[in-house]
Amino acid sequence: CGIVGYTGPRQAYPIIIKGLKRLEYRGYDSTGVALQNNNLKVYKKKGKVADLEEAIVGQDLNAHAGIGHTRWATHGEPSDRNAHPHQSASGNLAMIHNGIIENYAQLKNELIKKGYQFKSDTDTEVLLNFIEEIKINNNCSLEEAVRIALKRVVGAYVILLLDKDDPQTIIAARKGSPLVIGIGKGEHFLGSDASPMLEYTKEVVYVNDYELAIIRPDELILKNLGNEKITPYVQKLDLELAAIE
Ligand code: GLU
Repeated sequence: CGIVGYTGPRQAYPIIIKGLKRLEYRGYDSTGVALQNNNLKVYKKKGKVADLEEAIVGQDLNAHAGIGHTRWATHGEPSDRNAHPHQSASGNLAMIHNGIIENYAQLKNELIKKGYQFKSDTDTEVLLNFIEEIKINNNCSLEEAVRIALKRVVGAYVILLLDKDDPQTIIAARKGSPLVIGIGKGEHFLGSDASPMLEYTKEVVYVNDYELAIIRPDELILKNLGNEKITPYVQKLDLELAAIE
């Protein structure tokens, strides 16, 4: 299972697909991408990265921000509808997740009582709608809704979110699953490890547990769940592309 993200001036889709292929060694059963292309577009499928690529040939994949996922199913069988990214009930948010939300059943019951319906069997879709519910109810930013939601979450996760109304921004958070942010000139890369970004940058930030990142082409803001800013610790990669190909 793996995650990849990009925001900046380049085409996001080819970077995401190449990155997901480099993460294939981690094992997975499904693949998907969400792209900021006028609207928020989600393409996902059971099977290999190459199967998804083939299935969406001819689609308009022009986008400068996007996220991609390979899934190792824990909640819900491997299938197209359980594949990530998931979209929130309103359709405004898309999210990918590696890990497990242990208290998802309780959160799901709360949401069902409020009238939510679910399109998948995953713990991920529960967390996503939980975040959206907080965002709508509190009339707050996505970043704040994620922070509030994660205080109630038990489990392990790395999540990446896109918001249709904020097309250059990726919100990311982690606890227990790996997340690397690559820093380019006017662009940022995300990955489960540094392999998706090796040809673009050697400067990376390893996000720590209970940290949340707001990532835009020109900006990386790192915070803890108490909403305090953290200075990103930028490290220099000594890994060469040739070493992994
Ligand atoms: N728990 C999530 C699911 O079953 C994410 C699995 C993963 O880490 O890929 O869909």
